[in-house]
Amino acid sequence: METYEVIIIGKGPSGISAALYTVRAGLKTLVIGSGSSALQKTDKIENYYGFENPISGRELLETGVKQAKRLGAVILDGEVTALEFDGSFTAKTVEGEYKAKVVLIATGQPPQRPNIPGVKQFEGKGVSYCTTCDGFFYKNKTVGVLGNGNYTVQEAMELEPFTKDITIYTNGQSVAFSGNYASTAVKYKINTKRVVSLTGGDVLGKIELDDSSEKLDGLFVASGTASSVDFAVKLGVMVKDSAIVADAEQKTNLPGIFAAGDCTGGFKQVSVAVGEGAVAGKNIIEYIRSKK
Ligand SMILES: Cc1cc2nc3c(=O)[nH]c(=O)nc-3n(C[C@H](O)[C@H](O)[C@H](O)COP(=O)(O)OP(=O)(O)OC[C@H]3O[C@@H](n4cnc5c(N)ncnc54)[C@H](O)[C@@H]3O)c2cc1C
Repeated sequence: METYEVIIIGKGPSGISAALYTVRAGLKTLVIGSGSSALQKTDKIENYYGFENPISGRELLETGVKQAKRLGAVILDGEVTALEFDGSFTAKTVEGEYKAKVVLIATGQPPQRPNIPGVKQFEGKGVSYCTTCDGFFYKNKTVGVLGNGNYTVQEAMELEPFTKDITIYTNGQSVAFSGNYASTAVKYKINTKRVVSLTGGDVLGKIELDDSSEKLDGLFVASGTASSVDFAVKLGVMVKDSAIVADAEQKTNLPGIFAAGDCTGGFKQVSVAVGEGAVAGKNIIEYIRSKK
């Protein structure tokens, strides 16, 4: 079994940012990532510091990985399926097992793709998972938000500065809004019919419902998220609303386990992920030094 000082699970902006700090502090660092960062889904990022022109998510990711490798991080492709503790942590992948005293969870929080024909086809061309990122592109357009919970209403509210033409599509589910969200939701059009498919040409054009179809320029998926933190939960890491609970030093409730980026919830942006990764890196260094 290979042993490291730090294992980072996730090779998105938060994991790689942390690795830049730990390797430069001389810590033997392994980054394990299964390949699909939220960033890969976006062609154009123009709100991240330092780029005069938009940069693609893929390019930003690849550059970060090269930078961490150049500085000495070991980066492996693989999915961590289990994390165990027996005095130190063991991260298990199909390919092998790796041990370390400290683990950073930086697994992002991939949204669950709804099983609706056309969703995958129009991702980045009308279908989005992030109103903060893409709402701007739908000024005065006809948009929908897919989902039936409070998060759905929250995303509809985020779209209001850009357009007033907002419909919540619950895809056959009854609405499950509560508290302030229930009273806010009444100002949106709410369609509870089953969504049959999304159609269009190069970009999204229509949403096809059970017995009708409606024009649609953008559909924001806000129907809950698939959690990639299951192994953390099994170990006893505290999770709230599918997000890992971390303090201002990116520490979780378990000594030696840190968390950063989208998997901790909050404002899901590259700049935040990079910042939290840096904070985690700094505190991991201090934690390891304090144990020596
Ligand atoms: C469509 C879209 C557009 C966006 N546009 C913007 C934008 O314009 N500007 C902006 O600032 N932000 C944007 N974002 C948000 C941004 O991409 C995220 O906030 C950022 O990527 C979060 O970084 P992260 O490192 O926390 O997670 P991620 O980038 O999601 O990386 C998580 C990493 O963990 C890995 N992983 C997960 N589970 C495991 C496992 N079990 N084992 C091993 N590896 C695992 C993944 O493979 C991945 O490498 C967008 C997101 C989406 C989806």
